[in-house]
Amino acid sequence: MQHNFSRGPAKGGIRYHPSTDIDEVRALAMWMAWKCALIGIPYGGAKGGVTIDPRLYSRAELERVTRRYASEILPIIGPERDIPAPDVGTDDQTMAWIMDTYSVNMGYTVTSVVTGKPLSVGGSQGRGGATSRGVMYSAFSALKEAGVNPRECSVAVQGFGKVGGLAAQYLHDAGCKVVAVSDVKGGAYNGHGLNPAGMLRAVREGMESVVGYPNTEAISNEELIELDVDILVPAALEGVIHESNADRVAARFVVEGANGPTTPDGDAILEAKGTLVVPDILANSGGVAVSYFEWVQDLQAYWWSEDEVNDRLKQIMERAYDEVATLAREEGVSLRTAAQMIGVGRVAEAHRTRGLYP
Ligand code: NAD
Repeated sequence: MQHNFSRGPAKGGIRYHPSTDIDEVRALAMWMAWKCALIGIPYGGAKGGVTIDPRLYSRAELERVTRRYASEILPIIGPERDIPAPDVGTDDQTMAWIMDTYSVNMGYTVTSVVTGKPLSVGGSQGRGGATSRGVMYSAFSALKEAGVNPRECSVAVQGFGKVGGLAAQYLHDAGCKVVAVSDVKGGAYNGHGLNPAGMLRAVREGMESVVGYPNTEAISNEELIELDVDILVPAALEGVIHESNADRVAARFVVEGANGPTTPDGDAILEAKGTLVVPDILANSGGVAVSYFEWVQDLQAYWWSEDEVNDRLKQIMERAYDEVATLAREEGVSLRTAAQMIGVGRVAEAHRTRGLYP
C-alpha cells in the first residue's frame, strides 16, 4: 500500500502476521505519511503485509515467501520509489533477502532499496535500537515537561519484540524501574524491577516467551495494560487500549511504541482523565528517522559512527517533540491532535506547492 508521494518516495515496514489484512496495511501506510512529515524526513507513507505466522515456518520457507513477495512488488519499490523496512514479524534478514532479490533483478547491488538491513549489506549503526531509543527520548521529553524524574518512574512494556525489548532495556539502563514486559503468550511481572537485558539474552538464546522467567509472576497482556505504573509503553499491536479498558489504565504517561495501540474511543477516555499520551507517529518515529539515515548513507556509500547516528536521532526526536508540544499548548489540543496537524499540514503544503499535473 502506498499512501502518498508528495514529499518523496514512499516508506514503511513490511509485516508478517496471521491477522494482517489490507485495511490494517492501509491505516499503517497513512500513519507513515504523517510520521515522516512530522519529523521532517523526505518520504511519503507505505506499508506491506503478508498474512502468515512466521513462527510456524522454517527459515528456508520464510526466505521463499519473502523472495516471492519481493518479486511481486519489485516494479513498485526502489530507492526513489518506495523503500521497505522491517515491521512486526520481519527483521534484518528479511530485508537482506529483499535487497538481494531486487539487486539480482536489476543486475547490480542496490543497498538503498530497503532499510533495517544487516551491517554487512549496507545497514546503519544504531538502526536496530532506533525505534526503542526514540521511545525513550520522547518519554523523557514528556517527563521533563511534567517535571518528573525518570529515576522515580515505574514502567510496563507490552510487546517484547524489536521495539518493546530494547525500549525496556534502555529505560531500565536510564534509571527507570521496569516492572513488567509481555509477548504474545503473556507477561512477566516483578514489582521490584526486572532485568530486561537478561531477558533479551534469554530470548536470543531461544527462550520462547517471557512468561515464567525466573523471579517473575505471570500476568496477562490485559492485566499489564492496567498496571499501576507511571509509564505504559504499548509496543505490540493495534487497539489494545480501547473503550472497555481505557478507564482502568493507571499510568500517567502512555508512550505509544506500537502503531495505533489506542482506539479513538480509548483515546478520548484517556484524554478526559488527564493521561498524557505521546502518540505513535511521534513516539515510535525513531525507527524511520534512522532508516532515513541508513538510506542517505547507502546512497552516498559513506558510513556514520553509532554516536553520530544516535546524536542526530536525539536531535530529530527532541525537535519533533518540542514542535508538537508547542502547537498542543498554543491550540489547546492533545499531543496526538497537534502531531496530526503538523503531519497532515506538511503533506498538504507539499501537495499544494507542487500543484496538480497533468
Ligand atoms: P516484533 O515482531 O519484533 O515484536 C512484536 C511483539 O509483540 C512480540 O514480542 C510479540 O510476541 C508481541 N505480540 C504479538 N502479538 C501480540 C498480541 N496479540 N498481544 C501481545 N503481544 C503480542 O515487532 P516490532 O517491530 O517490535 O513492532 C511492534 C510495534 O511497533 C508494531 O505496532 C509496529 O508497527 C511498531 N513499529 C515498529 C518499528 C520498527 O522499527 N520495528 C518502528 C515503528 C513502529
